[in-house]
Amino acid sequence: MDPFGRSIDYLRISVTDRCNERCLYCMPEGYKGWAKRAEHLGVDEIVRVVESATRLGFRKFRLTGGEPLVRSDIVEITRRIWDLPGVQTLGLSTNGLLLAGLAVPLRRAGLRSVNISLDTLDPAAYRRLTGGNLEGALAGIEAALDAGFEVVKLNCVLLRGINEEQIVPLARFGAERGMPVRFIELMPLAPGGPVNDGHFFPVAEARARLAADEALDPVSERPGHGPARYLRGRVSGALVGFIGSVTCADFCKDCNKLRLTADGKLRPCLGRHGEIDLASALRADGGAGIDEAIREAIANKPENHSFGGDFEVKRPMTAIGG
Ligand code: SAM
Ligand code: SF4
Repeated sequence: MDPFGRSIDYLRISVTDRCNERCLYCMPEGYKGWAKRAEHLGVDEIVRVVESATRLGFRKFRLTGGEPLVRSDIVEITRRIWDLPGVQTLGLSTNGLLLAGLAVPLRRAGLRSVNISLDTLDPAAYRRLTGGNLEGALAGIEAALDAGFEVVKLNCVLLRGINEEQIVPLARFGAERGMPVRFIELMPLAPGGPVNDGHFFPVAEARARLAADEALDPVSERPGHGPARYLRGRVSGALVGFIGSVTCADFCKDCNKLRLTADGKLRPCLGRHGEIDLASALRADGGAGIDEAIREAIANKPENHSFGGDFEVKRPMTAIGG
């Protein structure tokens, strides 16, 4: 339990701060703050952290980044974590570009669920927003659906004037393939980009756009372990989730996670700057201090993020891990 009575059992592990895209809301233009390769945790180190975490009651794990699939040992990382006793579920977040070749090996290695980012179905807009190629992401999505994961979800960051017209098409795209689509509020995690400048779009408005298209009914199911609230389209059957990280007053009430950055810092909250240096604990005294660092991170979990206040970005999303 953290100081606010929340049970913390979910660890999101960033395996790299590098990426093969450069989404405007995640990586500031011209960003040069990359961690050195030697600072990235190795597979043995990641496994030791997960072992400690399971001893302390963590059961849910997610691999993220940066783009986790650019790490050449991602299948090994997946297999080694899945083989550990106490790991109940293991997911991965990806932009999908490298998934066509990796979906089957990852599934065989034990991966249970995949979240794929897709902000638009328009190839030119996709290119402008991410620097990547829509066709590659779509091929990754189809490969994930074919590979037999328990859950494949889409993530869409809402951006006024950039992809708001895509809300209904993306919900339908997901419905046709039986995939939940989650709409996420933009968090101020990439300074200097155009997206911080008047492009914020609240989840309530996304819900209204969808409700104008078809009636939405509340559902009790929650695919995955994240903070989304879900509704279902009465006609299309679309399962749509809303992550109101900025506007929902009670967003942090059920927060169950810690984050581990690629350079080995434990981050109790995405929207607060505090970090605990797990890498030093790992690399000193044979790793005797790992449990203590995790306990300290839980004890330091703040009640709320501070995105609504005077939050100033120190590390962009790509360096923290989404
Ligand atoms: N590269 C992978 C991907 O794109 O899914 C994993 C890492 S990414 C940082 C994880 C998630 O964070 C993605 O769904 C992405 O859209 C979201 N994200 C990145 N920056 C964000 C921001 N400033 N506000 C809200 N969501 C953001
Ligand atoms: Fe890369 Fe994902 Fe960030 Fe986009 S959101 S720049 S794909 S890490």
